[in-house]
Amino acid sequence: MAAKYAVERAREREERGVVATYIYELAKADPQKAGIAITLANGKTICAGDCNDGVTIQSVSKIFTLALALGAQGDRLWTRVGREPSGSSFDSILQLEHENGIPRNPFVNAGAIVVTDAILSNYRPKEALGELVQFVRSLADDDEIIIDKLVAQSEAETGHRNRALANYLASHGNLRNSVEMTLGVYFHQCALSMSCVQLSRAGRFLAFGGATGAGGRKIVSERRARRIAAIMLTCGHYDGSGEFAYRVGIPAKSGVSGMILAVVPGIASIAVWSPGLDTRGNSLVGTGMLEDVVDQLNWSVFA
Ligand code: GLU
Repeated sequence: MAAKYAVERAREREERGVVATYIYELAKADPQKAGIAITLANGKTICAGDCNDGVTIQSVSKIFTLALALGAQGDRLWTRVGREPSGSSFDSILQLEHENGIPRNPFVNAGAIVVTDAILSNYRPKEALGELVQFVRSLADDDEIIIDKLVAQSEAETGHRNRALANYLASHGNLRNSVEMTLGVYFHQCALSMSCVQLSRAGRFLAFGGATGAGGRKIVSERRARRIAAIMLTCGHYDGSGEFAYRVGIPAKSGVSGMILAVVPGIASIAVWSPGLDTRGNSLVGTGMLEDVVDQLNWSVFA
């Protein structure tokens, strides 16, 4: 009911935001699209609207790479990247310069590039991507999840800012692998293509104490799941994180394709998609859908 209602309201909205154009494959998206999927602790997924369309998840991938990097390196990772909200845009270089090449958090682009570099300490690029795809497929219980090579390629062709960030990190000794190798993996991870249904299933472990559901498979410890969710709440929407916490009140991570993965601890994992973005690069209609759902169902982490 709540999912259907959120999509109906989403379809009626006149203001739809602006589709990202700096990655030209994303510019083709239709701002009228809107989808939602909600996965509950019993494994049931409720969905509505364009919830089966495959979309590159972009920065939502940063959640999955963070889980992998923490699994490989544990707390050592935090010597290279912080855990504070940035208050600046997703691809800002200004802060990085001020703070001597240590990115504020793992969800701004610079921080995510460091996380990807950390994963590369244990793997070659192809293996790292294979590991990531396998991880996400197993989280979602879905072997159909793939990387959209066209999007990855278009991002590589226009990724000037990310190249600048990676070079800056390297100049501060905070990149162990080459800029091109690290970015090659980063661009491909952003191009992981998933539907809202697949994404809501892949995000379950963050909603259910590190497990895929009530009595489900354990993916990470309860403590780690809580901590990743805490970073989602404080840093998941870049310089719009405070506003999102105020309006929606649950941990979530957005991507520039208009995808958002949100979790209601102990209750549900929710993925929404609508391609038009607000001025901070977060899905305008997607945020509205989440707001409608939590209002309807009285869901919040603030009791
Ligand atoms: N692939 C995008 C980039 O690095 C991710 C940004 C986002 O989703 O916010 O520019």
